[in-house]
Amino acid sequence: MRILVTGGVGFIGSHLCEKLISEGHEILCLDNFFTGSKRNISHLMDYDSFELIRYDVTKPYYFEVDQIYNLACPASPVHYQRDPIKTINTCVIGAINALELNKKILQASTSEVYGDPQEHPQHESYWGNVNPIGIRSCYDEGKRCAETLFMDYHRQRGVDIRIARIFNTYGPRMAKDDGRVVSNFIIQALNNEDITIYGNGTQTRCFQYIDDLIEGLIILMKSNITDPVNIGNEKEYRIIELASLIIHLTDSKSKIIHKELPEDDPLRRCPDISIMKGLGWEPKIKLKEGLLKTIDYFEKS
Ligand code: NAD
Ligand code: UDP
Repeated sequence: MRILVTGGVGFIGSHLCEKLISEGHEILCLDNFFTGSKRNISHLMDYDSFELIRYDVTKPYYFEVDQIYNLACPASPVHYQRDPIKTINTCVIGAINALELNKKILQASTSEVYGDPQEHPQHESYWGNVNPIGIRSCYDEGKRCAETLFMDYHRQRGVDIRIARIFNTYGPRMAKDDGRVVSNFIIQALNNEDITIYGNGTQTRCFQYIDDLIEGLIILMKSNITDPVNIGNEKEYRIIELASLIIHLTDSKSKIIHKELPEDDPLRRCPDISIMKGLGWEPKIKLKEGLLKTIDYFEKS
């Protein structure tokens, strides 16, 4: 099959391209390098089945492909808040341009569509608690609007859609300057620098290792579920617990310091993954095992 991956040189996209190539598919990767790096896909460049085009998905395009994974979008708060107008354009216009190809298409949506949730764990039927005018809104509302577009193209034009609500994912090839909690803490710990906990550290997240996510995305694409589906790990950790674990695993001399909690930072997040379990998927990699692989990556890079 010929598969288009937008955002394919990013953290998740590069792992997805690698896996799809190993399954014998031909990959066309579109990316504007806003946050992605050529280094992530340098090992794929020698494959005849891999083609990379520098392209901004907010501009219309047409390619002959069988399937699309629409991943293009900065994903971490520091990057999506750098140019919020661009972020919402990428979410919304990027979704329209991809949907206009009228091919089977999977959208990389996010747990951020639940905002600061009032229900735990978050089931797909929960509509969320999102601030429409805050500093995270360009991403949260952009991704919510993209879901709306996917559902409307499906209902109105019969486009074959999949919507993956991805929860916090970590692993090798996270960008060093991403500002996300796992990469920040590992880099700080390896350099024996202070570990920066925002707020008191009692806010929670569930951390999914990249290989589990990639398997989940491909299983969801093969399914016939057109409604949104959560993909994440159910094990919930306080951020302060994550900091202690990373200090322990890196045998670091770092101390924990506290900084201000960013505006609208969700206090609890945990997915209900019963739909994915019904498809025979569940995460396999425990946090300690995944962190050790990620620490190894950052040590070598
Ligand atoms: P990333 O920043 O590493 O990758 C995003 C890629 O999209 C980058 O290569 C970037 O250059 C590219 N891109 C951004 N804007 C573009 C544009 N206008 N045109 C073309 N390319 C563009 O982020 P990631 O973690 O790999 O996330 C990939 C997708 O998964 C995103 O859509 C994100 O919203 C979603 N997601 C990620 C997580 C996570 O924990 N990493 C969680 C939920 C959802
Ligand atoms: N966080 C932190 N220190 C950091 C980076 C992040 O305490 O150096 C916190 C952040 O405030 C949030 C959680 O860790 O509560 C997860 O942040 P991340 O940016 O990784 O993901 P998101 O907030 O998008 O889930």
